[in-house]
Amino acid sequence: MANKWVYMFSEGDMTMRNLLGGKGANLAEMTNIGLPVPQGFTVTTEACTQYYEDGRQINDEIMAQIMDGVKKMEEINGKKFGDSENPLLVSVRSGARASMPGMMDTILNLGLNDDVVATMIKGNPDPTFERFVYDSYRRFIQMFSDVVMEVGKKYFEQLIDKMKEEKGVKYDVDLTAQDLKILAEQFKAEYKNQLGKDFPSDPVEQMKLAVEAVFRSWDNPRANVYRRDNDIPYSWGTAVNVMPMVFGNLNNESGTGVAFTRDPATGENKLMGEFLINAQGEDVVAGVRTPMPIAQMEQEFPEAYAEFVKVCDTLENHYHDMQDMEFTVENKKLYMLQCRNGKRTAPAALKIACDLVDEGHKTEEEAVAMIDPRNLDTLLHPQFDAAELKKATPIGKGLGASPGAACGKVVFTAEDAVEWAERGEKVVLVRLETSPEDITGMKSAQGILTVRGGMTSHAAVVARGMGTCCVSGCGDIVMDEENKKFELAGKTYTEGSEISIDGTTGNIYDGLIPTVDATIAGEFGRVMAWADKYRKLKVRTNADTPADAKKARELGAEGIGLCRTEHMFFEEDRIAAFREMICSDTVEEREEALAKILPYQQGDFEALYEALEGNPVTIRFLDPPLHEFVPTEEADIKKLAEAKGKSVEEIKAIIDSLHEFNPMMGHRGCRLAVTYPEIAKMQTSAVIRAAINVKKNHPDWTVEPEIMIPLVGDVKELKNVKDVVVATADAEIAAAGVEMKYEVGTMIEIPRAALTADQIATEAEFFCFGTNDLTQMTFGFSRDDAGKFLDAYYDAKIYESDPFAKLDQTGVGQLMEMAVEKGKKVRPSLHCGICGEHGGDPSSVEFCHKIGLDYVSCSPFRVPIARLAAAQAAIADKSK
Ligand code: ADP
Ligand code: MG
Ligand code: MG
Repeated sequence: MANKWVYMFSEGDMTMRNLLGGKGANLAEMTNIGLPVPQGFTVTTEACTQYYEDGRQINDEIMAQIMDGVKKMEEINGKKFGDSENPLLVSVRSGARASMPGMMDTILNLGLNDDVVATMIKGNPDPTFERFVYDSYRRFIQMFSDVVMEVGKKYFEQLIDKMKEEKGVKYDVDLTAQDLKILAEQFKAEYKNQLGKDFPSDPVEQMKLAVEAVFRSWDNPRANVYRRDNDIPYSWGTAVNVMPMVFGNLNNESGTGVAFTRDPATGENKLMGEFLINAQGEDVVAGVRTPMPIAQMEQEFPEAYAEFVKVCDTLENHYHDMQDMEFTVENKKLYMLQCRNGKRTAPAALKIACDLVDEGHKTEEEAVAMIDPRNLDTLLHPQFDAAELKKATPIGKGLGASPGAACGKVVFTAEDAVEWAERGEKVVLVRLETSPEDITGMKSAQGILTVRGGMTSHAAVVARGMGTCCVSGCGDIVMDEENKKFELAGKTYTEGSEISIDGTTGNIYDGLIPTVDATIAGEFGRVMAWADKYRKLKVRTNADTPADAKKARELGAEGIGLCRTEHMFFEEDRIAAFREMICSDTVEEREEALAKILPYQQGDFEALYEALEGNPVTIRFLDPPLHEFVPTEEADIKKLAEAKGKSVEEIKAIIDSLHEFNPMMGHRGCRLAVTYPEIAKMQTSAVIRAAINVKKNHPDWTVEPEIMIPLVGDVKELKNVKDVVVATADAEIAAAGVEMKYEVGTMIEIPRAALTADQIATEAEFFCFGTNDLTQMTFGFSRDDAGKFLDAYYDAKIYESDPFAKLDQTGVGQLMEMAVEKGKKVRPSLHCGICGEHGGDPSSVEFCHKIGLDYVSCSPFRVPIARLAAAQAAIADKSK
């Protein structure tokens, strides 16, 4: 049989959303359960794909099935499409698998032309009716021109405004039949003026062009951006729904509305919505007139309202979720035009989930599955006071790189941020871009704003790790760092100027917008407890400081999956000693410098073990290239020269010698430990001594250090470093006269390590996938530079998402899966985790569950997201 491209509503149901789109599947479902839906048909998403395959046109077979659908629709509705005596007018509506509100296009009142209009009016001399016909006609010409022919709406709006001005009226509803008739003529003239041809009068041609326009709207720029933000694949396509018009603009006994069965902002279980008398389609949301609250509809249309309340009940009992509905009343009779599970804020999502469990609509597992983990982010950070935010207008926009809200005085350097913060000032650190040296300054700031860099730039990653609000990559800023000023939206900002930034939307505002602290409502804890009950993956955190670790523990982290030791070297007293180490000529000199750092490191680790209270801690040894640590300021160079008894020139020569062409692939990771084993020795001593001390104070805690060697590509490399670690650790343990277990494992972040995981596992007791580097090395481009071309890759449909944010399951994921399998074959006790940025990304977490990792590790503020995503993966797995 030939392909079936068209389904009448009575042929579909809610399970068919892949084929019929969400809107189509739900129109079919509402039909099946007996709700009042004007009966039409759906053109499938497969037809959309076919349309693109055919070079963006509808082939004859699809068109024939559409006209066949029209015929059936005529029979059901007793009207005729294109007929002037008894015309069937239709809407042509987009509707993808996942709802994309407002992203694609819809055309109303299709089927009208001069003849149809004239005959309709002749058949019903009532002046209200005449007005309605012309109102529908001018709406149709306007929508068709805008959506199908891409003539801007504004031309038509200008004509309406002119007409209203001439007639001295404020609202569209005050225009008379005659006014609207003239407008319709003007619209047609404008159409011809813009396009050089007449408005198409043949309804079949109108239909074909309209369906094509809806298919085409799948690929419009705002839909593409929306899809990328919401993880919706381009390949899905949209369906098209064709259905008879019902007329909310017929008279004052008619109207149109939208409503939610529960409050989408708070979750409160009460009907919420708006209604507009004598109106059509988007009038309610377009703000031309102020709609009335839904409750008031009860007075105006008691019967329709009573029926609507019943429909709401039926729908909730059927879908077991909060519904978002669109409806129309024509001559007091209710028609349902759309329903879907309503979008909601994070607090509402949690409240609704709990209420649905209590009301018996959902099981705990179903409640956990219905919450979008990404939404939780907004609950964990300070927010702008909603009322104040409403009054503010953005002066610029960057990427919302780390959520939350911040306001404060502008500072331009990390040192200033620290200094001002110590004085009790709230500051926003504004930089061209940030570097590891800025880290203390970043911690002191309320928020960070950078001119350059993408979602995975240093500033973005570090800010997310700290849970600090960050807006990155605002290219509109004209920066003059040297003179501590920048320009934006025609205004110059200097040190101390006040700004506010929104790390969720990327918006930047002039002046201070007050913020309020995030509150964790009771439902939040309840849902998380359910999540913990069902998940298999453990969730650890990436934390370098006791403060971060403590925060993460509060948010439910079960251990540290990654402690980056290098961040500890940047603090005041240590950086000097570390620089001395770098500029040493002999092993002895290096050991001497390292000995100064050892007590600090040991102290850091002790504090971490204390904060973790017996939960596992994975400590990664020094990773970045040494040049990141050397001084850049003249004064610091001089200080270092004095400390080392060398000349400034000699120090500068050493610094120059550290220059690398590709630092990402340079002298870093375990290569540092191979060249300077004394670094690994010092770090091992610090870890083991710390563990022994903490264990002494807390005999009931499990303190078993996990030492992680970074950037291993060859088992011999790992063995070389491991031998140093083991010799040192065993000596420390023996010297202390205690028993202590410890593990030595490795990061898997070089493709060769994944490929030879069976060999690596002979030495490694655990694997942790460092998917930032692994992605970088597998793709062969650096995450700091990817921002330069990723947008072009999205536009060209080469990538659908940033591989540094969302794990590339096909490529990088394959390496991971293979490494786990090979590793476990050699060493069944091998435990595996992930500690790249992906550890906090829901779809990546799901993948980690699937390939059997033991844990994911992510920044503290992502811990709840990972817990929920892990539970959802386990629940989905079970239901399969
Ligand atoms: P969106 O997906 O942007 O909400 P819709 O396809 O739902 O677009 O259409 C927008 C509005 O147009 C609907 O909410 C409804 O008010 C109106 N509409 C659509 N189809 C019809 C119809 N057959 N009769 C009356 N109004 C309709
Ligand atoms: Mg809609
Ligand atoms: Mg790495």
